[in-house]
Amino acid sequence: MPFSDFPLSPKLLASIADAGFAEPLPIQVRVVPALLEGRDVIVCSQTGSGKTAAFLIPIIEGLLTAPKARRIHPRALVLVPTRELAVQVNGHFEMLAAHTGLKSVAVFGGVDHGPQERALQDGVALVVATPGRLLEQLDRGAIKLRDVAFFVIDEADRLFDAGFQPEVRRVVDAVPERRQTMLFSATMPGEMSRFAHSIVTEPEIVKLGLVAPPSQIKESFWPVPEPQKLDLLMRLLAEEKGLEKVIVFVRQRARARMLAPELARLTNLPTAELHADLSQAERLDTIGKFRSGEVRLLVATDVASRGLDIEELTHVVNVDVPDTPDDYVHRVGRTGRVDRSGVAITLVSPRELALAASLEEFLRRKIPWQRLAGFPYAPEEETGAAKQLIPGKRRRRAAQPLDQRETSSTKKESPFTRSGKLKKKHTDADFEEKPRRGGRKRAEKKIKGKKLPHQRRK
Ligand code: AMP
Repeated sequence: MPFSDFPLSPKLLASIADAGFAEPLPIQVRVVPALLEGRDVIVCSQTGSGKTAAFLIPIIEGLLTAPKARRIHPRALVLVPTRELAVQVNGHFEMLAAHTGLKSVAVFGGVDHGPQERALQDGVALVVATPGRLLEQLDRGAIKLRDVAFFVIDEADRLFDAGFQPEVRRVVDAVPERRQTMLFSATMPGEMSRFAHSIVTEPEIVKLGLVAPPSQIKESFWPVPEPQKLDLLMRLLAEEKGLEKVIVFVRQRARARMLAPELARLTNLPTAELHADLSQAERLDTIGKFRSGEVRLLVATDVASRGLDIEELTHVVNVDVPDTPDDYVHRVGRTGRVDRSGVAITLVSPRELALAASLEEFLRRKIPWQRLAGFPYAPEEETGAAKQLIPGKRRRRAAQPLDQRETSSTKKESPFTRSGKLKKKHTDADFEEKPRRGGRKRAEKKIKGKKLPHQRRK
């Protein structure tokens, strides 16, 4: 369907056409009509889905058609977790409102107040802001939120993860109760916090399915005993060609600290760490350097990597199997952009076999299992388990398709919910410092008690 099927003003349609958007993306087909009707929404989607335009288009339409009485104070507010996102969303608005005469400003910290305050004084229709600087401007009286009719919280999970919840509360208290609220998040806010639900009124809930990683990405699982993971990682990276921009995901910050200098030496790439020991400012700085190419290898823990949105990586390495298919798809999807090839390597310890198999089951496809020729795999029973997972090797049983072999232990009770979350709730702390808790442990237990197919001797 064309955008002109939506009841949008000609000036807005002209801007959309100039932006080169031929037709609405799936998220826009779902969200735009609900917002044009004036409903609140909670949208669960990933960056890259077209979500920014999904909320900006109805907002611009609303700004164009609302009564013209007071136009001094902003009538739309978009709250975002990072200054990069503030700039990005503001750029999007400028593009989509190009023919409308509507003005906007990005309000974020770390820069002079002057230009932002001047823009606010001149009058803007929309403000995109990070919470800290927005509250500062509120306290200084430089911004008034009493006319805000459209209120967006973008990347709500990141905002709340970063500890911004009290600031968000203050912003919510500062905007009028009569407003349209739009909450966008990569995870469902219901699982995230009651707070998110308290902000919206009878929301339409839109959850977009997982997008499979593009086919040009070369994905692989590498079974290896846990103590040998780092050795194998070193070998794989040493042999890998075309390492341009690489993220290595690890579970513990201590591991990140230990690995970063080793990998820097091995690959000769400018390397940085990203984990919870760093301050928010340091993390943003590191992400900025990685985005610009100043840093080309990033060793990141799960906590710090939440919502990390860096495009055009050549390599993603998961030293541990990600806890959810969502995390896996999101990370892997960062490579192979714009028809470039990408490589996604996941190391799988024997304890993670069930989790990896469940991941394949959830994705409804197999990921090739590989072994590095000449690598001195430890001769333990568990390594034997790993060998069994390479189709076509060793015993006949091992040649069975992976899903068939694993069904007895994993299919009846996958550790994931249908939406791709681990069944047991976990916290960020679980991810980083207590890696064996929660669904992961449950998945491991399942194979312990039942014995994997290769362990059942005839
Ligand atoms: P986002 O998920 O908002 O970060 O958007 C991802 C990318 O999709 C951005 O570069 C947008 O400009 C682009 N985009 C958004 N909507 C459309 C559309 N209808 N057609 C083509 N590209 C789009």
